[in-house]
Amino acid sequence: MAHVLSKSSFIRGVQCTKSLYLYKHNYRLRDAASASLQAIFSRGINVGKIAQDIFPGGVDVTPESVFKYSESVEKTRKLIESGTEVIYEAAFVFNDVLAAVDILVKRAGQWFAYEVKSSTKVSDGYRLDASLQYYVIKNAGIELADFSILHLNNQYVKQGKIEPEKLFNAVSLLSECERNQSMIAEKVREMKEVSFLSFVPDIKIGKHCFEPYTCDFMGQCWKNVPQNSVFELAGMSKEKQFELYNNGIVKIIEVPADYSLEKNQRIQVDATNSGKELINKTEIAKFILRVNYPLYFFDIETFMPAVPMFDGTNPFQHIPFQYSLHYKKTKDSPLEHIEFLAEAGFDPRKDFITHFLENTKDAACILVYNRAFESSVIAKLGNDFPELKPEVEKRLSVMIDLMEPFQKRYYYHPEMKGSHSIKNVLPALFPDFNHKNLAISDGTMAMSAFEQLQTETDIFKIAELRDNLLEYCKLDTLAMVKIFEFLENL
Ligand code: SF4
Repeated sequence: MAHVLSKSSFIRGVQCTKSLYLYKHNYRLRDAASASLQAIFSRGINVGKIAQDIFPGGVDVTPESVFKYSESVEKTRKLIESGTEVIYEAAFVFNDVLAAVDILVKRAGQWFAYEVKSSTKVSDGYRLDASLQYYVIKNAGIELADFSILHLNNQYVKQGKIEPEKLFNAVSLLSECERNQSMIAEKVREMKEVSFLSFVPDIKIGKHCFEPYTCDFMGQCWKNVPQNSVFELAGMSKEKQFELYNNGIVKIIEVPADYSLEKNQRIQVDATNSGKELINKTEIAKFILRVNYPLYFFDIETFMPAVPMFDGTNPFQHIPFQYSLHYKKTKDSPLEHIEFLAEAGFDPRKDFITHFLENTKDAACILVYNRAFESSVIAKLGNDFPELKPEVEKRLSVMIDLMEPFQKRYYYHPEMKGSHSIKNVLPALFPDFNHKNLAISDGTMAMSAFEQLQTETDIFKIAELRDNLLEYCKLDTLAMVKIFEFLENL
């Protein structure tokens, strides 16, 4: 049975009718999915499989491709008629809308639907999603006794085998789904009309481009927004940015001098207008004086398995698997380098922290970029391995944040675009020194590469992934060395 709308196209249309229209008629204009989005998709599939173990013995009617959903609808119908009590990816069509629910279960003669989410809470998007599924399933003839979201329980701590019943929390959305039925029916009518329009809906860019999901047609709709627009004003709410934009103030340079801005936003506006850097030499000198030798430049990479892989860990816990250390024993010593990259398939935490403590025994100062994050990961390892805690605390006591001079605006360059992230500071200071030519160019890609190593069996691919990871992390600490030298030279 053919359908006009799927669950995802319906949700897209509720967010923005133009997005639905473009998806239906100009699909190829979509922006490429980012590495982090692809990681979310594959994480969702793995989590869904584990949730099925709560209701074992079901029949999976997942189609071979998205174009074969009508076969799944037919299979679902036959399975229900033949008395099957657990169906995975049960598919239904009503009023030209297709909906497949992750798990459909019959207990004591009543049907229960479960939608599995690889997140730790129920978002507004999930509520809309559930209300549409309920609308389709119920009107297709299945009276549901309940409709629940199964989301990951962030309090769950793995000990031994994963226990699916404890890994997930079930939240019933039945009453909300029932309350939303007339709204859903009206929206379905509207979205079907949009699908058959012969022109692109005239929708301007707005907050809806980001809520509840970042739209994948931004490359299209936002292409005329110039560089240095008000949307680059850091820390400014979307409401305020659009208020300026809709009043014809598009570029930062056009922001009125008397417009109320926070301190850092004013610095950003003034620097963009003048094209000049802001340098507070006194504060930079004070920062440099806090740095002692032997000096270490330290950067770590972590991954966050949605389903905990190691005993004593929770869903989405940061598991450190790699670090890079550049170091100088004295100010005039040569720059040296050490690194660590865990073997896949094992819990890397103990090896990671033991190597780190060993390699930084004599550290008088450990520079990191974003101390809040690095120190929280290291402190957690101190708690996980109490025998190492005294040494861990010594390292934490000499950890200094190289981000501070940029965060506190002791130094600001217009090209930092209001940000103090190393990804913005580095190209502002050294335009030719960047990660662009590396196979792994950001932390999300590093995370995905290490996750891939967990299951990769091709030894050449393993070697390539490991080399790419080492090269990426090494460049991060080398970037920190250059940034520190830059501040010293100021
Ligand atoms: S980018 Fe914004 S305006 Fe364009 S389709 Fe997406 S949500 Fe709609």
